[in-house]
Amino acid sequence: MRNVKRAVLVKPGSPLEIWERPTPSASGREVIVSVEMAGVCGTDHHLQSGDIELPNPMVLGHEAIGRIAELGSEVTTDAAGEPVQVGDLVYWQPLRPCYSCYACTILGDVSQCPNLVTFQLHQHADKPPVGAYTQYAWLPDRTAFFKVPADVPAEALIAFGCAMPTVLHALDRLGGIQYGQNVVVQGSGPVGLAATLLAHLAGAGSITVLGAPPQRLEMAKRLGATTTIDVTSTNEQERAATVKEITDGRGADVVIEAAGRIPAFTEGLPLVASNGKYVIIGLWGTPGTSPVEPRYLNNHNISVTGSNLTKPRHIYETVQVVRKHHRRFPLAEMVTHRFPLEQAQDALDAVGRGETLKAVIVP
Ligand SMILES: [Zn+2]
Ligand SMILES: [Zn+2]
Repeated sequence: MRNVKRAVLVKPGSPLEIWERPTPSASGREVIVSVEMAGVCGTDHHLQSGDIELPNPMVLGHEAIGRIAELGSEVTTDAAGEPVQVGDLVYWQPLRPCYSCYACTILGDVSQCPNLVTFQLHQHADKPPVGAYTQYAWLPDRTAFFKVPADVPAEALIAFGCAMPTVLHALDRLGGIQYGQNVVVQGSGPVGLAATLLAHLAGAGSITVLGAPPQRLEMAKRLGATTTIDVTSTNEQERAATVKEITDGRGADVVIEAAGRIPAFTEGLPLVASNGKYVIIGLWGTPGTSPVEPRYLNNHNISVTGSNLTKPRHIYETVQVVRKHHRRFPLAEMVTHRFPLEQAQDALDAVGRGETLKAVIVP
């Protein structure tokens, strides 16, 4: 038993509360991790505002790095078969599929599992939190966690939190980016920046990032953007004209929505070239509708793809991308704000105001 402090969202719209509760030890196939850094994601902000409705109370935080504090007696390796021991640094997302439903087994798509164990406290009231805004997090039986090699700086990895796994999943669903393709990224938060880096590593011919504020666009350039357009000082027509000009009048082969705003969808679709692809990532938690003329998609052979959450493989792949490229790109510099657990609310507010590249909570 240990007393564990956690930041709790009691109900939408109310500030996070710090609760301290005794929690039991890890047993069987469970793991308890001492959280070193919990990434603050725009989704956390949407959960607090009530845009995304989940049963409360909950402990937020779905991207984390920490050290193994306790291993259940049946856990000897991470999800990739790497031996682990107490004290190892690990990276995980607290979404545990059931592995025994139609989605998990027949579709092979755990992102559609209806029995996901997430960060809601009511699912496991007597355990440490599954969410990461806590001193110690509980990884239930079969949660996919991965050992972080010694040559991977924790900040370079948490910089992309859930964003890079999410984009890796989206690129899988899209069929990847081909050498020389023109790419437009809508949004310059962590998802947009991860998309920019991955498009660059994939060999995209041009990468145009539509976003704001200037420090995010500056980072986009350092990660491979060939053109950035500040959405606060341009209008939709001007941005469309610039994309046409860059792409010799054709439009983008791949448009990645990472803006999280409904008007971005309306703006993004006409930016797609004939036979091009549009993938929606950022609108995951944004309510609203947008008019689409179906024949436009038909006449231009446009594919529109959705991509929900991640698979464990994408968490593993993120570690590999960061391991290979953190010396070449300023990944750790993306972490611009650090907050102690007691100031978790300030962290959410800073992310809500869009003033961070990446904020983390350091319990
Ligand atoms: Zn997230
Ligand atoms: Zn399932």
